[in-house]
Amino acid sequence: MKLVTYSYDGTESAGVLSLDGKHVCPAKALGYGCENMNEWIDLLAKEGLSRLLAAVEAGCEERIPLEQVTLLAPIPRPRQDMICLGINYMAHAEESARYKNEAFGGERPYAVYFSKRVGEAVRPEGRIDGHFDMVERLDYEAELAVVIGKDARGVSEEEAADYILGYTIVNDVSARVLQTRHKQWYFGKSLDGFTPMGPWIVTADEFSFPPKLSIQSRVNGQLRQDSNTELLIFGIPHIIRELSRGITLKAGTLIATGTPAGVGMGFTPPRFLKSGDTVECSIEGIGTLKNTVG
Ligand code: MG
Repeated sequence: MKLVTYSYDGTESAGVLSLDGKHVCPAKALGYGCENMNEWIDLLAKEGLSRLLAAVEAGCEERIPLEQVTLLAPIPRPRQDMICLGINYMAHAEESARYKNEAFGGERPYAVYFSKRVGEAVRPEGRIDGHFDMVERLDYEAELAVVIGKDARGVSEEEAADYILGYTIVNDVSARVLQTRHKQWYFGKSLDGFTPMGPWIVTADEFSFPPKLSIQSRVNGQLRQDSNTELLIFGIPHIIRELSRGITLKAGTLIATGTPAGVGMGFTPPRFLKSGDTVECSIEGIGTLKNTVG
Protein backbone atom coordinates (compact mmCIF):
# COMPACT_ATOMS: atom_id res chain seq x y z
CA MET A 1 0.00 0.00 0.00
CA LYS A 2 1.00 3.58 -0.59
CA LEU A 3 0.21 5.91 2.31
CA VAL A 4 -0.02 9.56 1.37
CA THR A 5 -0.50 13.00 2.80
CA TYR A 6 -2.32 15.29 0.41
CA SER A 7 -4.01 18.62 0.10
CA TYR A 8 -7.55 18.77 -1.28
CA ASP A 9 -9.83 21.80 -1.19
CA GLY A 10 -7.23 23.52 0.97
CA THR A 11 -7.29 20.84 3.64
CA GLU A 12 -4.37 18.54 4.50
CA SER A 13 -5.29 14.90 5.13
CA ALA A 14 -3.78 11.45 5.29
CA GLY A 15 -4.96 8.64 3.04
CA VAL A 16 -4.05 5.61 1.02
CA LEU A 17 -3.89 5.08 -2.73
CA SER A 18 -6.35 2.71 -4.35
CA LEU A 19 -4.80 -0.48 -5.71
CA ASP A 20 -4.84 0.89 -9.26
CA GLY A 21 -3.10 4.05 -8.05
CA LYS A 22 -5.79 6.30 -9.53
CA HIS A 23 -7.57 7.44 -6.39
CA VAL A 24 -6.88 8.58 -2.85
CA CYS A 25 -8.98 7.06 -0.09
CA PRO A 26 -9.06 9.41 2.92
CA ALA A 27 -8.07 7.73 6.18
CA LYS A 28 -11.07 9.33 7.85
CA ALA A 29 -13.42 7.74 5.31
CA LEU A 30 -11.97 4.39 6.31
CA GLY A 31 -12.89 5.00 9.92
CA TYR A 32 -9.59 6.31 11.26
CA GLY A 33 -10.07 9.32 13.52
CA CYS A 34 -6.85 11.09 12.62
CA GLU A 35 -6.01 14.59 11.47
CA ASN A 36 -2.62 13.82 9.96
CA MET A 37 -0.10 11.08 9.19
CA ASN A 38 1.52 11.22 12.64
CA GLU A 39 -1.81 10.46 14.29
CA TRP A 40 -2.61 7.80 11.72
CA ILE A 41 0.69 6.03 12.34
CA ASP A 42 -0.19 5.96 16.06
CA LEU A 43 -3.51 4.27 15.25
CA LEU A 44 -1.89 1.79 12.86
CA ALA A 45 0.73 0.99 15.50
CA LYS A 46 -2.06 -0.21 17.78
CA GLU A 47 -4.18 -2.18 15.34
CA GLY A 48 -1.81 -3.24 12.56
CA LEU A 49 -2.41 -3.01 8.83
CA SER A 50 -4.82 -5.88 8.16
CA ARG A 51 -8.05 -3.85 8.43
CA LEU A 52 -6.61 -1.12 6.21
CA LEU A 53 -5.43 -3.64 3.64
CA ALA A 54 -8.87 -5.27 3.56
CA ALA A 55 -10.52 -1.88 3.05
CA VAL A 56 -8.19 -1.00 0.19
CA GLU A 57 -8.68 -4.38 -1.45
CA ALA A 58 -12.44 -3.98 -1.15
CA GLY A 59 -12.18 -0.58 -2.88
CA CYS A 60 -13.05 2.44 -0.79
CA GLU A 61 -16.36 4.16 -1.55
CA GLU A 62 -15.34 7.71 -0.72
CA ARG A 63 -12.41 8.44 -2.95
CA ILE A 64 -10.78 11.34 -4.77
CA PRO A 65 -9.10 11.14 -8.19
CA LEU A 66 -5.35 11.40 -7.66
CA GLU A 67 -5.04 14.22 -10.20
CA GLN A 68 -7.35 16.38 -8.08
CA VAL A 69 -5.09 16.36 -5.03
CA THR A 70 -1.68 17.82 -4.37
CA LEU A 71 0.62 15.25 -2.82
CA LEU A 72 2.53 16.55 0.17
CA ALA A 73 5.47 14.91 1.92
CA PRO A 74 4.02 11.76 3.53
CA ILE A 75 5.14 12.93 6.98
CA PRO A 76 5.20 16.69 6.45
CA ARG A 77 6.16 17.54 10.02
CA PRO A 78 7.98 14.68 11.76
CA ARG A 79 7.56 14.82 15.53
CA GLN A 80 11.29 14.38 16.08
CA ASP A 81 14.41 15.13 14.12
CA MET A 82 15.16 12.60 11.41
CA ILE A 83 17.91 10.12 12.30
CA CYS A 84 20.46 9.85 9.50
CA LEU A 85 23.32 7.54 8.63
CA GLY A 86 26.51 9.18 7.39
CA ILE A 87 28.79 7.64 4.76
CA ASN A 88 26.95 4.30 4.75
CA TYR A 89 27.93 3.16 1.22
CA MET A 90 31.61 2.33 0.71
CA ALA A 91 31.91 4.16 -2.63
CA HIS A 92 30.42 7.30 -1.04
CA ALA A 93 32.84 6.99 1.89
CA GLU A 94 35.67 7.02 -0.65
CA GLU A 95 34.38 10.05 -2.55
CA SER A 96 33.76 11.95 0.72
CA ALA A 97 37.30 11.30 1.92
CA ARG A 98 38.69 12.38 -1.46
CA TYR A 99 36.71 15.64 -1.35
CA LYS A 100 38.02 16.40 2.14
CA ASN A 101 41.58 15.31 1.27
CA GLU A 102 41.43 12.72 4.02
CA ALA A 103 42.90 9.25 3.96
CA PHE A 104 40.36 6.45 3.86
CA GLY A 105 41.55 2.95 4.59
CA GLY A 106 38.32 1.21 3.61
CA GLU A 107 37.45 0.47 7.24
CA ARG A 108 34.14 1.52 8.70
CA PRO A 109 33.91 -0.26 12.05
CA TYR A 110 31.02 1.74 13.50
CA ALA A 111 27.99 3.41 12.00
CA VAL A 112 27.92 7.21 11.81
CA TYR A 113 24.66 8.67 13.14
CA PHE A 114 23.55 12.28 12.99
CA SER A 115 20.26 14.09 12.97
CA LYS A 116 18.50 16.51 10.68
CA ARG A 117 15.83 19.02 11.64
CA VAL A 118 12.75 18.83 9.44
CA GLY A 119 10.49 21.76 10.27
CA GLU A 120 8.43 21.06 7.18
CA ALA A 121 9.39 18.45 4.62
CA VAL A 122 9.26 19.56 0.98
CA ARG A 123 6.49 17.98 -1.08
CA PRO A 124 6.96 16.08 -4.34
CA GLU A 125 7.43 18.66 -7.12
CA GLY A 126 8.07 21.28 -4.41
CA ARG A 127 10.92 23.75 -4.24
CA ILE A 128 14.24 23.22 -2.55
CA ASP A 129 15.18 26.59 -1.07
CA GLY A 130 18.85 26.94 -1.94
CA HIS A 131 19.45 29.67 0.68
CA PHE A 132 21.99 31.05 -1.78
CA ASP A 133 22.51 34.18 0.32
CA MET A 134 24.25 31.99 2.90
CA VAL A 135 24.94 28.69 1.14
CA GLU A 136 27.77 27.67 -1.17
CA ARG A 137 28.21 24.16 -2.50
CA LEU A 138 24.61 22.97 -2.30
CA ASP A 139 24.40 19.21 -2.74
CA TYR A 140 21.85 16.41 -3.10
CA GLU A 141 21.76 12.94 -1.49
CA ALA A 142 19.15 10.35 -2.57
CA GLU A 143 18.34 8.05 0.35
CA LEU A 144 16.03 5.24 1.35
CA ALA A 145 14.20 6.28 4.53
CA VAL A 146 12.72 3.80 6.98
CA VAL A 147 9.48 4.74 8.77
CA ILE A 148 9.19 3.09 12.19
CA GLY A 149 5.67 1.73 12.69
CA LYS A 150 5.55 1.10 16.43
CA ASP A 151 7.69 2.04 19.40
CA ALA A 152 10.92 0.04 19.27
CA ARG A 153 13.17 -0.56 22.28
CA GLY A 154 15.62 -3.40 22.67
CA VAL A 155 14.77 -4.88 19.27
CA SER A 156 16.92 -7.69 17.87
CA GLU A 157 17.96 -7.87 14.21
CA GLU A 158 15.55 -10.77 13.73
CA GLU A 159 12.66 -8.69 15.09
CA ALA A 160 13.55 -5.46 13.28
CA ALA A 161 11.22 -6.00 10.33
CA ASP A 162 8.21 -6.12 12.69
CA TYR A 163 8.83 -2.51 13.68
CA ILE A 164 8.89 -1.01 10.19
CA LEU A 165 5.76 0.56 8.75
CA GLY A 166 7.32 1.19 5.36
CA TYR A 167 9.76 3.12 3.26
CA THR A 168 9.95 6.44 1.48
CA ILE A 169 12.52 8.52 -0.40
CA VAL A 170 14.29 11.53 1.05
CA ASN A 171 16.74 13.91 -0.50
CA ASP A 172 19.21 14.79 2.29
CA VAL A 173 19.99 18.22 0.85
CA SER A 174 23.30 19.43 2.24
CA ALA A 175 25.19 22.72 2.37
CA ARG A 176 28.76 21.41 2.26
CA VAL A 177 30.46 24.57 3.48
CA LEU A 178 28.17 24.93 6.52
CA GLN A 179 28.40 21.21 7.20
CA THR A 180 32.19 21.39 7.37
CA ARG A 181 32.58 24.82 8.97
CA HIS A 182 30.44 24.04 12.00
CA LYS A 183 32.09 20.67 12.68
CA GLN A 184 28.75 18.97 13.26
CA TRP A 185 26.59 18.29 10.20
CA TYR A 186 23.35 19.39 11.86
CA PHE A 187 23.17 23.01 10.71
CA GLY A 188 24.29 22.40 7.13
CA LYS A 189 21.66 19.71 6.63
CA SER A 190 18.76 21.23 8.55
CA LEU A 191 17.98 24.49 6.75
CA ASP A 192 14.32 25.07 5.94
CA GLY A 193 13.45 23.26 2.73
CA PHE A 194 16.36 20.82 2.88
CA THR A 195 14.25 17.65 3.20
CA PRO A 196 12.22 16.73 0.14
CA MET A 197 10.30 13.55 1.00
CA GLY A 198 7.92 11.28 -0.86
CA PRO A 199 6.05 10.70 -2.95
CA TRP A 200 4.52 8.28 -0.41
CA ILE A 201 5.26 5.64 2.19
CA VAL A 202 5.18 2.17 0.62
CA THR A 203 4.29 -0.35 3.32
CA ALA A 204 6.98 -2.85 4.23
CA ASP A 205 4.94 -5.90 3.17
CA GLU A 206 5.66 -4.98 -0.48
CA PHE A 207 9.39 -5.67 -0.10
CA SER A 208 11.65 -8.51 0.93
CA PHE A 209 13.65 -7.78 4.05
CA PRO A 210 16.03 -6.18 4.15
CA PRO A 211 14.99 -4.48 0.90
CA LYS A 212 17.42 -4.70 -2.03
CA LEU A 213 16.37 -1.82 -4.23
CA SER A 214 18.06 0.11 -6.98
CA ILE A 215 18.52 3.78 -6.08
CA GLN A 216 19.35 6.63 -8.42
CA SER A 217 19.49 10.38 -8.60
CA ARG A 218 19.41 12.61 -11.64
CA VAL A 219 20.14 16.32 -11.96
CA ASN A 220 18.46 17.96 -14.96
CA GLY A 221 17.86 14.46 -16.28
CA GLN A 222 21.50 13.42 -16.05
CA LEU A 223 22.26 10.30 -14.02
CA ARG A 224 24.41 11.11 -10.99
CA GLN A 225 23.90 8.34 -8.41
CA ASP A 226 23.21 4.72 -9.32
CA SER A 227 23.47 2.01 -6.70
CA ASN A 228 21.46 -0.51 -4.69
CA THR A 229 20.38 -0.51 -1.06
CA GLU A 230 21.88 -3.97 -0.64
CA LEU A 231 25.23 -2.13 -0.56
CA LEU A 232 24.49 -0.36 2.73
CA ILE A 233 27.51 -0.85 5.00
CA PHE A 234 25.27 -0.96 8.06
CA GLY A 235 21.95 -2.48 7.06
CA ILE A 236 18.51 -1.77 8.45
CA PRO A 237 18.47 -4.67 10.98
CA HIS A 238 21.82 -3.51 12.38
CA ILE A 239 20.66 0.11 12.62
CA ILE A 240 17.41 -0.70 14.43
CA ARG A 241 19.08 -3.11 16.82
CA GLU A 242 21.92 -0.76 17.65
CA LEU A 243 19.85 2.39 18.12
CA SER A 244 16.98 0.71 19.96
CA ARG A 245 19.37 -0.69 22.56
CA GLY A 246 19.48 2.76 24.08
CA ILE A 247 16.86 4.89 22.35
CA THR A 248 13.14 4.22 22.10
CA LEU A 249 12.46 4.67 18.40
CA LYS A 250 8.94 5.99 18.51
CA ALA A 251 6.32 5.22 15.90
CA GLY A 252 6.76 7.70 13.07
CA THR A 253 10.52 7.96 13.49
CA LEU A 254 12.30 8.46 10.18
CA ILE A 255 15.72 6.92 9.60
CA ALA A 256 17.55 8.00 6.44
CA THR A 257 19.92 5.16 5.63
CA GLY A 258 22.65 7.11 3.84
CA THR A 259 23.45 8.01 0.26
CA PRO A 260 25.48 6.21 -2.42
CA ALA A 261 28.34 7.63 -4.47
CA GLY A 262 27.70 10.27 -7.08
CA VAL A 263 26.80 13.34 -5.02
CA GLY A 264 27.99 16.70 -6.32
CA MET A 265 31.10 16.83 -4.14
CA GLY A 266 32.16 13.43 -5.47
CA PHE A 267 32.91 14.73 -8.97
CA THR A 268 36.16 16.32 -10.14
CA PRO A 269 35.51 19.17 -10.42
CA PRO A 270 32.49 19.10 -8.05
CA ARG A 271 29.03 19.59 -9.55
CA PHE A 272 26.94 21.40 -7.00
CA LEU A 273 23.34 22.51 -7.42
CA LYS A 274 22.32 25.89 -8.73
CA SER A 275 19.03 27.73 -8.98
CA GLY A 276 16.69 26.17 -11.51
CA ASP A 277 18.18 22.67 -11.33
CA THR A 278 15.75 19.76 -11.04
CA VAL A 279 16.73 16.83 -8.84
CA GLU A 280 15.05 13.44 -9.16
CA CYS A 281 15.65 10.72 -6.57
CA SER A 282 14.31 7.29 -7.56
CA ILE A 283 14.06 4.03 -5.65
CA GLU A 284 12.79 0.78 -7.13
CA GLY A 285 9.35 -0.11 -5.84
CA ILE A 286 8.74 3.35 -4.36
CA GLY A 287 8.93 5.81 -7.25
CA THR A 288 10.54 9.15 -8.00
CA LEU A 289 10.81 12.26 -5.88
CA LYS A 290 11.32 15.29 -8.12
CA ASN A 291 12.11 18.81 -6.91
CA THR A 292 13.43 22.06 -8.29
CA VAL A 293 16.06 24.23 -6.67
CA GLY A 294 14.93 27.82 -6.13
MG1 MG B 1 22.80 11.84 3.88
